[in-house]
Amino acid sequence: MSWEENVRKVVPYTAGEQPVKKGIIKLNTNECPYPPSPMVEAAMRRAECDDLRLYPQFPEKSKLYDTLVSYHGLDKEDIFIGVGSDDVLSMAFLTFFNSGRPVLFPDITYSFYDVWAEVYNIAYLKKPLDENFCIRKEDYMGENGGIIFPNPNAPTGALMAVDDIEEIVKANQDVVCIVDEAYIDFGGVSALPLLKKYDNLLIVRTFSKSRAMAGARIGYAVGSRKLIKYLNDVKYSVNSYTMNRMSLELGEACMQDEAYFKEICNKIIATRERSEKELTALGFTFPRSYGNFIFASHKNVRAKEIFERLKENDIYVRFWDKPRIDNYLRITIGTDEQMDALFKALKGIV
Ligand SMILES: *Cc1c(COP(=O)(O)O)cnc(C)c1O
Repeated sequence: MSWEENVRKVVPYTAGEQPVKKGIIKLNTNECPYPPSPMVEAAMRRAECDDLRLYPQFPEKSKLYDTLVSYHGLDKEDIFIGVGSDDVLSMAFLTFFNSGRPVLFPDITYSFYDVWAEVYNIAYLKKPLDENFCIRKEDYMGENGGIIFPNPNAPTGALMAVDDIEEIVKANQDVVCIVDEAYIDFGGVSALPLLKKYDNLLIVRTFSKSRAMAGARIGYAVGSRKLIKYLNDVKYSVNSYTMNRMSLELGEACMQDEAYFKEICNKIIATRERSEKELTALGFTFPRSYGNFIFASHKNVRAKEIFERLKENDIYVRFWDKPRIDNYLRITIGTDEQMDALFKALKGIV
């Protein structure tokens, strides 16, 4: 027998490319095209190297924790901070999806969900989106081991109404329902008010998209005190020092600049709306997006061809060679100048 037979084998998540080449237009991983708040830069300059000798604070003892609690008007025990929302979501899969019954999520969604289910040996079932790429709430009413979906969904950009989310959470009070709000700041309506009524709802947020801090790796979850306690119990059984000192401090500085945060979100929304008009004029169709990206398909030219031709022009967008979505491109909203370069290149291709 070989040791290899007993290895936990997984097919890992494949993130969008991070080319090292300078000067490319990078519209492939939904990062923010604008820098973080100047207050983050100031905090970076203030940081003391000598502090790195010491272990970091636990997140719940950090200023960032208190700031997020008051920002959302939460109770003190209702929040969990992790290394990006990927860490938070991974811990949530490990903690809450433990019944043996299948966890439900859409067939077209964040492609990390099935990877976590696989690595933790969690049964799951994918529920097809309808023909307009919307979640069908009826699909989430039967017996299951938990529910997770992003709202707005990724990569489609489609938003689900809070009333519909409530119906799902209400019908599933025997399991944990997770709403991944990675893109909620780009014009969506948050499910946060539902937390008052349901102790089985966990809402996950990130600093990576709307707060322009993907490199700092900050995410958090809000939910009932009980959910958060169970999440912490598992987290502190895996790795107790997950959040590093710098990220806790820079995240706190970011939270102090609400005006800048609103400004960059509004700029991205305005560019998205202009981009929708430009793409329509070029012959693309797409669901209305509530994210910082557009999921577009062209009436004549295959997505794969456009993807490859754009790359030759040093413009990176995201393409998945997967059923149902292999004729779509997910285009992150960049600056107005970046989008103009994209439209110019697209004119030459389509
Ligand atoms: C980007 C993204 C995340 C992960 O964000 P990090 O906080 O950078 O780990 C989670 N969920 C969805 C739907 C995303 O698009």
